[in-house]
Amino acid sequence: MLISKDLTNRPQYTWCTALSVPREGLCNVCNKGKVVYFRAYSGERLCSKCFTKTFEKRVAKTIARYDMLRYNDKIAVAVSGGKDSLTLLRVLAKIEAKFPESSMVAITVDEGINVYRDEAIKNAEDFISRMDNIEHVKISFKELFGFTLDDVVKDGIVDRAGIKPCTVCGILRRRALDIMARRVGASVIATAHTLDDVVQTYIMNVFRGDIDKQPFGTRIELEGFVPRVAPFKLTPENEVVMYAYLHKIPFQSHVCPYARTSMRDMIRNFLTEYEENYPGTLYTALTSFEKLIKPSAISLQKCEVCGVPTSRRVCRTCEILKHLGVERVPVQ
Ligand code: SF4
Ligand code: ZN
Ligand code: ZN
Repeated sequence: MLISKDLTNRPQYTWCTALSVPREGLCNVCNKGKVVYFRAYSGERLCSKCFTKTFEKRVAKTIARYDMLRYNDKIAVAVSGGKDSLTLLRVLAKIEAKFPESSMVAITVDEGINVYRDEAIKNAEDFISRMDNIEHVKISFKELFGFTLDDVVKDGIVDRAGIKPCTVCGILRRRALDIMARRVGASVIATAHTLDDVVQTYIMNVFRGDIDKQPFGTRIELEGFVPRVAPFKLTPENEVVMYAYLHKIPFQSHVCPYARTSMRDMIRNFLTEYEENYPGTLYTALTSFEKLIKPSAISLQKCEVCGVPTSRRVCRTCEILKHLGVERVPVQ
């Protein structure tokens, strides 16, 4: 098995943890299968079948625990084409098949990142074409905002505005996803944020002095918003890697050229190393953060520029577009 560091923008030791497992002995659960995964925080050594079963069971439990999905939802799955989102699509399709009144649609946002996103979109198209009854829709920054992410980075616009490419990418992708979810009539958006991503976000919120946010990835129904849920919020990233590997979900060979510029990347590196040395830290951190979060009542008003509901005077999308000198503010 060849796993090179080019396959992901995650640090190499995440891969080591996930894929270079001690293979001696038999599975702790069935006592029959060959061990493929060592779950360090619980001490379990699992065969492929038991790993898959426990992985999917935990996702189903997460959905139930946080009341993420309803029996008749139209679920818009945010599919970037990376392994996390394709894994989410596969697992949710299995869960959703048990609910005849629900349906799924995959949404891909093309931010316009040469080579990296092109490869991801191709992976998503190939993967979804092999699945039954999953509609796949795409939307691009170019079509919505009139520029690609590469355009505003290469022309130096992002630098001059003093904004990181990931900030532009994240905020505008959120708007694009929201617009597309409304266009297809989705009742909920599911994203592939993992336990690692959620803890990183909580830490970033603390660093920014933003601690009155709602718990991440839990369903919040607000007028004018499609709620967002994160069914992998209790699933560590390295288990997603293992699941993707076992089920032949494609991995990207290119890394986003802007990944190393983000604050998230620094926090990710620190947390991954910490979890490696002290297994279980991510769960403890998530539980602690969620006990500490004191969400303030959400009071919404209409953005003064585009009119979408927001807790601010001007929404983040309009703020970013203004910094970039762009007039066009898409709502639908
Ligand atoms: Fe966007 Fe940053 Fe992720 Fe690249 S690393 S896809 S720029 S958020
Ligand atoms: Zn087993
Ligand atoms: Zn706005």
